[in-house]
Amino acid sequence: MDEKALNDTVSACRTLIESRFPDDPERGAAAVLLGDGTIVTGTSPDFNNPSTAVCHELEPYCAAFRLGQKIIASVCLHRTPEGKFLVLSPCGVCRERLADQGPDVLVAVAADRDPTRVRWLTLAELLPHYWLTAFAEEAATPWV
Ligand SMILES: [Zn+2]
Repeated sequence: MDEKALNDTVSACRTLIESRFPDDPERGAAAVLLGDGTIVTGTSPDFNNPSTAVCHELEPYCAAFRLGQKIIASVCLHRTPEGKFLVLSPCGVCRERLADQGPDVLVAVAADRDPTRVRWLTLAELLPHYWLTAFAEEAATPWV
């Protein structure tokens, strides 16, 4: 995997938080690396009704579909009031959304003992017992 492209994806996520929310310390965003090398970012608005909230990843995941590109890697960061950028692994719903990309898509998780450091894992490593594997074995194709 292109280490520079992965680092650039994390930087783009961080840059979005810094540029969009310069005066609001506790914010988050997501970024994905697409198959053509493009990086798309996204963040969730504060909807009046909290039950309508969406994950930061949703905007870049939809952009990947709009652009007809495969997602290679996905990262979500949350800036704390102290200015630390925590790495948030994708929630259960986003893992399901990413599963459409196959088991090899990379996801950023927090490194051991340092939640501000990115560790890249494949989605298969995050979901070792993913339900669709039962069908994948039968079809001899990974997760589809
Ligand atoms: Zn999510």
